Amino acid sequence: MDMRLDDDTRWQAVVDCRPEFDGAFYYVVTTVGVCCRPSCRSRRPRRENVIYFDSLADAQRAGYRPCRRCRPDQPAVDPAAQLVAWAKQQIESRQAESHPLAGVAAAAGVSPGHLARLFQERVGCSPVEHLNRVRAHRAGRLLDRGQPIAEVASAVGFDALGGFYRMFKQQTGHTPQAHRGRTAAGLARARYESPIGPLTVLADGAAVVRLLLPGEVWDESDPAPGPRPPEPVADHPTEPVAVRPAAPDQMAERRTDADDPDGDTKQPRHTGDPTTERRTEADDLLARAVAQLDEYFSGRRRRFDLPLALHGTAFQRTVWEALIEIPYATTASYTDVAVGAGRPRAVRAVGQANNRNPIPIIVPCHRVIGHGGALTGYRGGLEAKHWLLEHERTHA
Ligand SMILES: [Zn+2]
Repeated sequence: MDMRLDDDTRWQAVVDCRPEFDGAFYYVVTTVGVCCRPSCRSRRPRRENVIYFDSLADAQRAGYRPCRRCRPDQPAVDPAAQLVAWAKQQIESRQAESHPLAGVAAAAGVSPGHLARLFQERVGCSPVEHLNRVRAHRAGRLLDRGQPIAEVASAVGFDALGGFYRMFKQQTGHTPQAHRGRTAAGLARARYESPIGPLTVLADGAAVVRLLLPGEVWDESDPAPGPRPPEPVADHPTEPVAVRPAAPDQMAERRTDADDPDGDTKQPRHTGDPTTERRTEADDLLARAVAQLDEYFSGRRRRFDLPLALHGTAFQRTVWEALIEIPYATTASYTDVAVGAGRPRAVRAVGQANNRNPIPIIVPCHRVIGHGGALTGYRGGLEAKHWLLEHERTHA
């Protein structure tokens, strides 16, 4: 494919000092004899005095010297990256406004469409998705503090409750009221001693929410995307409790012990309490999750059968769902996953979503490798990734 730009495009880029053309070509003002990047802010030359080069080296061979202002001979700062970083920060600080995005694009001096395209490419989601993710996260924190829903909606830029409900549900998979319910119930967690180290599974009554790899902790700096379910409230146990292997009766006992630190009774104290009910459901689910992990690590399970709550952007969820389809003992490239997610050009964004997979192993992001078979990264460490792939090959 011929990537050369036509002269009109190049001239317009020079006139507008468009930084996204930096590196794509260089221009020389023949009357001055210097070679510039398209973004150079020097005085606009006369068009008939401008010639173009594909590289600085070509221009230098032709006898021109690099401009001292735009320094084409020095490593380029990435103006698109700067623009996107700035826009991201602006969106975050203006999330309480009703419609911040048009204002952000205008302040950046680019069209909303152009900003959206760059943002998608560099951040892996659209500006709207990022805005909503930030808003849902903030809303979750405010709801946790007991702020009334109408006030929370207004604090994150929604005048109408309907729009707020739709956004919150779309981002988190549950309503603001259900979020409160989760706060009250907390999340149950179980630990499983796997061959790659201790794993912690977190679940609410309906689904597995998170799997922590060895060394990962679940707190404010949690790398998982999106609004996080809150930590259990203080009167519930927060320390993971070892259960291996997990049989349902052991799980029940774990809960009883935890609820009753004195250990003087084996009966749950709050029978019939709705909080206890929810914790029981979550514990049943954790028992299944731990049993299935045990089967997986002993080579007897190839696919997990558990309800999963994949909290993230719509794009991230699409990627994580595509990961689940990678068969046991096989690997896929980032490009394969991008195609599987219906976004063949979003390879970089797929990589980012892959890294933020909240439920590794069960959602097998370890089966994604780089071109040429390089293992690339893994939150649990490359050794763990290598172990998992070898384990699956052995039991295929
Ligand atoms: Zn210049």
